Amino acid sequence: MSAKVLQTIKNAPFDWKAPAKYAKQLNFTKQPVNFINGEWVTATTGTIPVEDPCTNDIIGHIPNFQKAEADAAIAAAATAFESWKETMPSHRAKILRKWATLMNENAPTLGSILSREGGKVLAEGTGEVLNSAVFVDFYASEGERVYGDIIPGPRPGVQTTVIKQPIGVVGLITPWNFPSSMITRAAAGAIAAGCTVVLKPSELTPFSALALAQISEEAGLPPGVFNVVTGDSAAIGSALTSSFDVRKISFTGSTRVGKLLYEQSAGTMKKLGLELGGNAPFIVFDDAELERAAEDLLLAKWRNAGQTCICTNRCFVQANVFDQFLAILLKKVKTLKVGNAFDPSAKIGAMCNKAAVDRMVSVVADARKKGGRIECGGRAVKVNGKGHFFEPTVITNVNHSTMDCCQKELFGPVLPVVKFDTEEEVVQLANSTRAGLASYFYTQDYRKQHRVSRALKFGMVGCNESAISHPVAPFGGVKESGLGRDGSKYGIEPFLDIKYVCLSTK
Ligand code: NAD
Repeated sequence: MSAKVLQTIKNAPFDWKAPAKYAKQLNFTKQPVNFINGEWVTATTGTIPVEDPCTNDIIGHIPNFQKAEADAAIAAAATAFESWKETMPSHRAKILRKWATLMNENAPTLGSILSREGGKVLAEGTGEVLNSAVFVDFYASEGERVYGDIIPGPRPGVQTTVIKQPIGVVGLITPWNFPSSMITRAAAGAIAAGCTVVLKPSELTPFSALALAQISEEAGLPPGVFNVVTGDSAAIGSALTSSFDVRKISFTGSTRVGKLLYEQSAGTMKKLGLELGGNAPFIVFDDAELERAAEDLLLAKWRNAGQTCICTNRCFVQANVFDQFLAILLKKVKTLKVGNAFDPSAKIGAMCNKAAVDRMVSVVADARKKGGRIECGGRAVKVNGKGHFFEPTVITNVNHSTMDCCQKELFGPVLPVVKFDTEEEVVQLANSTRAGLASYFYTQDYRKQHRVSRALKFGMVGCNESAISHPVAPFGGVKESGLGRDGSKYGIEPFLDIKYVCLSTK
C-alpha cells in the first residue's frame, strides 16, 4: 500500500536497551519516522524540529506529513479493521495487557522521553507513563465486558436483541501536555472495542507517541491497528474529518480546535469525543481543613507547571479565613523550585514553548494594570540561561469579571485568589464561565458537600480531593469543555455502535 506515498525504513527508532542514554541525550535527528501499517516510514515531505523546552536544544525531527500520508494511514486502518473487529475480545485483551506490561517495564525510558520533549519533571513524566499503562490494562478488561441486551419483544415470537459492534476507524488527535496518557486513555478503549486507530499526536511532543507505537508492535498489535502520523495539523485533521472510513474523531485539546473539528465532521456525520479546555474553580470554605486544602491546591495548580486541563484556574477563599489561608499557601508555594525536568530537586519544569510564557507575562501584566497584587512570582525565568520557564505566581486583589486570569483558561503557573462571602455568591462566580471541566471545593459540612456538588456546573467535582483523574472514573466536561467521557465503563461505549436486531422466532 505504501509504495508511492510512503518510504519505509528497516529499524525501529528507539533502543530500549539504553535507557540512561535517553535521560541524558535524546537524538532522533537521523530518523524522522512515523508508524503506518506496521512499518516505520520516513519523511518525504520535509521535517519539523522538536525542541527540549528546558534547554532549547533541538532533540530530533519528525516528518511533516500531509493529507496523502494521512490518507494512506486511514486506508491501512480501514483494511486492518476488517480483521481486527472479528478477533475475540480475550485475544485483544491479551495483546493490550502485553502492551501495558512493556510500558511498565520501560517506564524509565518512556518517562525520560516524555520529560525531555514535554519539559515536565521526571517524576511526573515517569508517573504519567505508569498511569498510561493503567488505562491500557483497564480497557483490556473492559473490552471483555461489552454486553448487549435481550429485550422482551412487542409481539409473541418476536425477540428484540441489542448487539454492540466496533464503530470503525477512529481518528485520534492528542495534545502536547500529556503526550502518553491522553493517547492510551482513548486508544486503548478503541482498540479493546475492536476499532483501529490513526493517531495524530502534538508536533511539540511526538516521540512519546512513536515510542508507544514501537511498544505496540513488540506487544503484537497487528499492522494497521495503531498508526501514528505527524505533520501539518490542519491537513491531517481535515483528512481525518473528511474521510468516510473514519467513523469517530476522539480529540483532546483546546476548545478552539475542538469546535473546528466538530464543524468539519458534520459532512460525514461522525461520532465525536471532545475533551477540551477548562477553567477550574478551587473553593475553600471557612470550615475547610485549611492546611489540607492548601497542600492539595499545590497539586491542583502547579502540576506540570499549571499546564493541565483540570488545573485550578481560579481559587476562591471565604473572607474570614482568607488571610490565614493565603499565608499557609504562600509558604508552600515558595518551596516550589523551578528547574530542568531532570533536576531531582525541581518541582516545576518548563512551559511548552515561548508563546506559553508570553501568555503568562501578558496575564500578569493585565492583572497588575487592573489593580492585582502579585504576592509571589510573576516573572519569566531561565534555568542555566535557557528554557521556557515561569515562576509560580499568586495574585490577590483580583477583579473576577475584568481580569484575564479569571476569564481565560490560564494553562500556566499563575493563580488568582479571590475573596468571597457566601456560598450562593461563590457558586455563582464559579459557574460564570463557558467552560465546565473540573471543579474543587473544600468543606467539612456534609450538607454543603451535597449541595455544592450538585450546584457546580462542571463534569467533575473534587470534594476535599484534588487528585480526581484516574482510569476507573468518567473524565470529561460539560458546556464548552466538550462531549463524551474518557476512562471508566463509559469510555468504551463511544467506540461501539448499537445494533437492534428484530428476530422473529416463528
Ligand atoms: P491544541 O488544541 O492546540 O492542540 C491539540 C492537538 O490538535 C494537537 O495535536 C494539535 O497539533 C492539533 N491541532 C491543532 N490545530 C488543528 C487543526 N486545525 N486540525 C486538526 N488538529 C489540529 O491544544 P494543546 O495546546 O496541545 O493542549 C492544550 C489544550 O488542551 C488546553 O486547552 C487543555 O485544557 C486541553 N486539554 C484538555 C484535556 C481534557 O481531557 N479535557 C486534556 C489535556 C489537554
